[in-house]
Amino acid sequence: MTPKAATKRRRSSGKDGPAHRIKVLCRVRPFLKHETPDNSVAMADQTVKIVNQRNPDEVLLYSFDSCYDASASQQSLFQQDVRPLVDNIFQGLDATIFCYGVTGAGKTHTVQGSTQQPGLVPRTVKYLFTNKRMRTKLRYTVHISYYEIYKEAIFDLLVPRESMSPSGLPIREDGNKNIFIPNLTEQEVSSYAQFEQLFHRACKNRSTASTKLNLASSRSHAILTVQISWRDVSRQTTLRGRVHLIDLAGSEDNRRTENGKARMAESGAINKSLFVLGQVVEALNSGAHRIPYRDSKMTRILQQSLGGQSLGMMIVNIAPGQQFYVETYNTLNFATKSKQIVNKAKVHEFHSPNASTSDLPRNAVVGLGKARR
Ligand code: ADP
Ligand code: MG
Repeated sequence: MTPKAATKRRRSSGKDGPAHRIKVLCRVRPFLKHETPDNSVAMADQTVKIVNQRNPDEVLLYSFDSCYDASASQQSLFQQDVRPLVDNIFQGLDATIFCYGVTGAGKTHTVQGSTQQPGLVPRTVKYLFTNKRMRTKLRYTVHISYYEIYKEAIFDLLVPRESMSPSGLPIREDGNKNIFIPNLTEQEVSSYAQFEQLFHRACKNRSTASTKLNLASSRSHAILTVQISWRDVSRQTTLRGRVHLIDLAGSEDNRRTENGKARMAESGAINKSLFVLGQVVEALNSGAHRIPYRDSKMTRILQQSLGGQSLGMMIVNIAPGQQFYVETYNTLNFATKSKQIVNKAKVHEFHSPNASTSDLPRNAVVGLGKARR
């Protein structure tokens, strides 16, 4: 089977066993050199804690499947949460990993990373190429596709933008209701080094294209798909598993800062597709009957890789610091419905030079906050 045909092969969703929940993780980045550190975001185990800026007596607690604080390494995130997900593609399953958050919160760092601190993309591909399962007599092939979705239009990042139609690539559905992108490049790669070169060039394509259009790359979703396929000779079948690694467009409300017509249309498309993604995740995790995949291009394309037997993970990136409070608050509310509001524990301390309680003000508020009579 050709890779394209393999991509079109439909797996049943939800018919082969219980559907998987989409795991939701939170990662806070460290303060950057020019930022003044404060204690506005705290993490403990699976909880993120912020103080309500509107009511400083209130602490807001948000629960996640895992939390990664500012000291967490790229390696620990990959090993603890991402690698176990990626392992499933050897069973012929799909896995989809999103990074969600405002611009500057650490999405690209998490997905791509740097030479010194490689992110999930290089780690995943390296992991696949060094995996001992790849060295068995099953002949694995690895194919890569990389594209971006900008204002609901799809652009192949493995070809120069000049050679593409300004309206981008279409989405098609075949007779079996499989969604696919005709003519999207699916490049076979045979080593990590080859992948690195290809990915580097594609990232350049992305930034050159965005510079030409005078837009920031943070306004598009970038989707890297790594597919492995292999032949099971005894059963005369070809199997495939895919992992999609997605650097989402910045989730900030662009209407707050920019009001040009072009920017409004762009913000509308970004906000809508992120909103739909949130609804899809929520619908899947609450076991809803109708999942609104069709309401945005991205969820439509990823329909077969999200929900059912496919595994999904949303990494919620937040920036520390009071100045990001509104963005952090919106991000956390978007990402988790499990919010708890608690009153800040008050320690009541009064100046009392004598070892007596006579210095306590009358009607002092003690303990639970009810004035004692
Ligand atoms: P985004 O893609 O969400 O806009 P970036 O990934 O570009 O954000 O991160 C913004 C800045 O913060 C970059 O300079 C990046 O290197 C840095 N950064 C983000 N996350 C981390 C982290 N976990 N450790 C160190 N630096 C980080
Ligand atoms: Mg980015």
